[in-house]
Formats: sequence, C-alpha cells, structure tokens
Amino acid sequence: MKTLKVNIVTPDGPVSETEANMVIATTEIGEIGILPGHIAMVAPLQIGALRLKKDNSTVHVAVHGGFIEVRPDVVTVLAQQAELASDIDIARAERAAKRAEEKLQAKADKLEMQLAELDLRRAINRLNVSKQK
Ligand code: ATP
Repeated sequence: MKTLKVNIVTPDGPVSETEANMVIATTEIGEIGILPGHIAMVAPLQIGALRLKKDNSTVHVAVHGGFIEVRPDVVTVLAQQAELASDIDIARAERAAKRAEEKLQAKADKLEMQLAELDLRRAINRLNVSKQK
C-alpha cells in the first residue's frame, strides 16, 4: 500500500515524523481525507483531531489550529500545539477544562471569555483524542 510522509511540527519542535496510508484532518471547512498523490494544497486547521492511518492501525493526534500543507507525497502540519494521544496528560486537561469553565461562568470581559472558550476547546479536544489511544 502506498504511503505519505507526515511531519507534525510545533514551535517546540517536531511532534511526529512518520508514514501513513491516509491522513484525516479537521480543517476549517470540514474533515478531509488525504491519500498519496493528493493535489498540492494548504488549508487552515480547526482545534480537532488528526488521524494517521497505517496498515490496520490509527494514530490519533490532538492539533490545536495551524495549517496543513499537502503535497503528493508529503503532508506537513504546522501548529502552535499538537500532542499524540499517548502523550496527553488527562488530569492536566481536566484541570484546564475546569479552570476555563470557571472563567466562563465568572462572565469576565469579552476578550477573557474568548480566551477561556479557546482554553476549553483545547482541553476538550485533548480529552476526546486521549480516549482514542
Ligand atoms: P494548560 O492550561 O494545561 O497549560 P494550555 O493549552 O494552555 O494547557 P500550554 O501551557 O500553552 O497549554 O502548553 C504548553 C505545552 O504543553 C505545549 O507543548 C502543549 O502541547 C503541552 N500541553 C498542554 N496541555 C497538555 C496536556 N494535557 N497533555 C500533554 N501536553 C500538554
């Protein structure tokens, strides 16, 4: 089965450099599936899951925004933060979700509310992806 190279990079360094038969990403316009030979494109990513399918297994990655760049033989994901499901600290994400919910309930100013909403979305994404490992 044909494969694609997949590189996931954050400002802290590479999160994963691997090969996959198929990559499924959550872009701003919905989920896309990328197979080897896909046309070149760049798309913004949502806070969501990235799934790397290889043979009969799937690696799940929590990706918090950023961009996906597709070339026929390479997929590069550039994100501010990304974590493999197996690296997610569930207790930390639960604490982050609780903190964000408390901030949202406190009804602070608009910017703080927007930041808390993003914190909550990141924490929920981590919790959802961590269940898939
Ligand atoms: P927190 O409020 O728990 O710190 P956050 O989304 O604000 O969450 P940052 O502090 O900005 O996260 O992240 C610093 C680093 O820690 C990043 O590399 C990020 O990928 C990683 N990280 C954050 N939360 C988790 C988690 N629950 N499990 C594993 N890595 C995490």
